[in-house]
Amino acid sequence: MKSRILAVFAHPDDETFLAGGTLAKYAAQGCEVFLVCATYGEGGQRGEYGGLTAEEFARLRQREMEAACRALGVNQPVFLGCADRRLARECWDSATAEMIRHIRTLKPDVVITFGPDGISGHPDHVALSQIVTSAVWGAGLRTADANSAPFRPTALYYVLRSAAVPKCCKSSVPVAAPPVTTVIDVDGFGERKLEAIRCYRSQKHLQPQDAESVQAVLRGHEQFHRAVPAWRGEGIEDRLVAASG
Ligand SMILES: [Zn+2]
Repeated sequence: MKSRILAVFAHPDDETFLAGGTLAKYAAQGCEVFLVCATYGEGGQRGEYGGLTAEEFARLRQREMEAACRALGVNQPVFLGCADRRLARECWDSATAEMIRHIRTLKPDVVITFGPDGISGHPDHVALSQIVTSAVWGAGLRTADANSAPFRPTALYYVLRSAAVPKCCKSSVPVAAPPVTTVIDVDGFGERKLEAIRCYRSQKHLQPQDAESVQAVLRGHEQFHRAVPAWRGEGIEDRLVAASG
């Protein structure tokens, strides 16, 4: 059976900047790659789309993410429909329950999400790290939902900052990122990642503008922390455990 990867992020474009090369690489190797996005990113910078309503802007960002997923060669995204910037306050319980359901239905070998630092410290990123981590454990418990069979993924990874992440997104919270345990060489998949980034036309401020930024995308590595099974200081991995094409 094909290996399955489930990547869970908060806003359209998170997946591409943080793990686009890795997702494209594993999809090209024959893995089933699924994406869940908690919000439509309607709170993002509007730029030239300032005249759209929040609803219209949400639809635009949804379509951008769908196009980015086609560029990466992964399955179309599922949206939880939580309100942007209000994930922790309004959506914690429902998002946790939905993630348990998705994990039990999709049965991923590997789950990828934010670490406790949330990369940029965005409150939705930090909340989603905790929601997905608890859902990974909850999905394996018999008590969580009597209507679906327990399932526990083999591995959980937290995505870390890599060279392709725009400089605008430096962390604003004093939570240290966990250590790098896994470095994925995404050479050969940079073109797909760049194409996916270009799908996010509404997010002009995040686009690589100069040759150096483009090179960071094209020749990059993507970095992760293996949270499950817990990393015990062994050597750096060059692949996601339990994910082979
Ligand atoms: Zn985000």
